[in-house]
Amino acid sequence: TPDIRRHMERLAAEGVDVVRVIYPDLMGTDRARDVLLDHLPSASEHGLAFCRAVYHTSPQGDVVPVTGGLDAGLPDVCVRPDLSTAAPLPWEPGVATCLGEVTDPATGGPAPESPRDLLGSVLARCSERGLCPVVGPELEYFLLEPAPGTPTGWRRSPEAIGAVYTAGLRADPDNHLLRTLRQLRDLGLGVITGNHEFDGGQYEINLTHSEALDAADRAFRFKAAVKELARKEGNMATFMAKPFGDAGGSGFHLHLSCGDTEGHNTFDDPSGAYGLSATARHAIAGILAHAPALTALANPTVNSYKRFGPDTLAPWLIDWGLDNRSAMVRIPPERGSGARLELRLGDASANPYLLIAGTIAAALLGIQEGEEPPAPLEGYGYDTAKSALLPASLPTALDALEADSALTDVLGKDFTTSFLTYKRNEVERFQRHVTDWEFTEYAYHL
Ligand code: GLU
Ligand code: MG
Ligand code: MG
Repeated sequence: TPDIRRHMERLAAEGVDVVRVIYPDLMGTDRARDVLLDHLPSASEHGLAFCRAVYHTSPQGDVVPVTGGLDAGLPDVCVRPDLSTAAPLPWEPGVATCLGEVTDPATGGPAPESPRDLLGSVLARCSERGLCPVVGPELEYFLLEPAPGTPTGWRRSPEAIGAVYTAGLRADPDNHLLRTLRQLRDLGLGVITGNHEFDGGQYEINLTHSEALDAADRAFRFKAAVKELARKEGNMATFMAKPFGDAGGSGFHLHLSCGDTEGHNTFDDPSGAYGLSATARHAIAGILAHAPALTALANPTVNSYKRFGPDTLAPWLIDWGLDNRSAMVRIPPERGSGARLELRLGDASANPYLLIAGTIAAALLGIQEGEEPPAPLEGYGYDTAKSALLPASLPTALDALEADSALTDVLGKDFTTSFLTYKRNEVERFQRHVTDWEFTEYAYHL
C-alpha cells in the first residue's frame, strides 16, 4: 500500500535497512523479530508469526505452560508492524525499531494476553465517560558490571558512590547516565531528566507525561533501550525490584491525572478540599480500595515484596498523603494543570501496560462508585496503627487479584486467568528452590 511505501522510503532515506518489530509479552518483556526492509510489505500484509505464551525458560529448564500456550500446542500470535512508530536506533546504525500490533490468528481479534490491547480496552471505558488519563512514568534501575567468579557474575561498580539527586562523575564515573539520556532523547522517548538514586550504581530517568497508551509505549521501549545500551557497553541494566539485600529497591512511580474532552485537568479544583476535585478524590479512593489486587500487577515478582518495608521510600501501607513520600499515593504540591497523583506502589519490574491499565481501572472504579478516601496520612507513613498493610508476598497479592471481581471484570477473564496461571507457576518454582540463606541459617545449628 502507498502508506507502507512511504514509510519504507522514509526509513531508507534515514539509512535503515532492518526494522526490529517489538511487542510486549504478558510480563512486559520485549519480544522482537528483525525484518529486512524489503520484507516489510509482506510482514505488514500477513503479519509476523511469534510463538505464543513461552515467556521464558527457567534455569531449571521448565517451559512455563500458560492457558493457550503449551497445553494448546503453542499456537502463533500474529504481529503487524506499526510503521508510524518506527524510529532509528541511535546506537545501532541501519536498524529502526517499531511497535507491533498483536492479533490472535484464530479469531483475527486481539490476543487475550496482549497487555497493550488490555490497556486499550481500559482506556476505551474511560473515553466513554469523556475521560482521558494522562501518565508520567519515573523508572529506577541498577547498572551492573561483570564480576567473574562471584555467585551471580554481576556487581555494582564500587566506584559509583550512591548519592541521591546528584549527577556527574562522582556518582557516575563513566557518565553512563549522560550517554543514556542523550541516546534515549534521540530515540524519541520523551525522557526529560536523569539523576543518581540512593544507592551506588542506581539511576532514575523520568519521562514526560502524555496520554496513557503513549506513555506506556514509551516506558516499555525505555526499559528495552536502557538494557540494550548497557549491554552494548558490556554491562547489564536491571529493573528487578530489589536486586540487593543491602540497597534500596527500584521503583516505577506513576504520575496520573485525567483530562476531559476539552483537555482540562479534571483533578484540579481550587475550591475543593486540598485543591483537588471530587474526581481526583474518587480516583484516589478507587486506588486505595483496589490496592491489594493492583499490587499483583504493580509488583509482579516473588522478589518485588522485598522492596516494601518501613523507611524504604517504597510504600508498606495502603495510604495517601499530601506531598508525603512515605505514602503509597502521594499528591505532589502542584495544582492547576499540574494537579495529579503519584502512585509510588509499582516497582521497576512491572509491565508498564499492566501497571498503567490496573491503576487506571482502579481509579475509574472509584470514580464510577463516587468513593471517598479516608483523611490523608499526616507525617510518618510506616506506622501500622494508621493504615492496612499491603500484601506481603506475591501469592497473597495473586489471591487478592483473583478475589477482586470488580477489577478483574474490567481487566477481563482471559487476561486474569493467563496472568494468575503464569504467576502461580512462578511462585511454585520459587517455593521448590532452596536458597543459600536457608542453608546458612539451618544446616549447622538445627
Ligand atoms: N527507590 C525507592 C522505591 O523503591 C524510591 C526512592 C525515591 O523516592 O525516589 O520506590
Ligand atoms: Mg527516585
Ligand atoms: Mg517519584
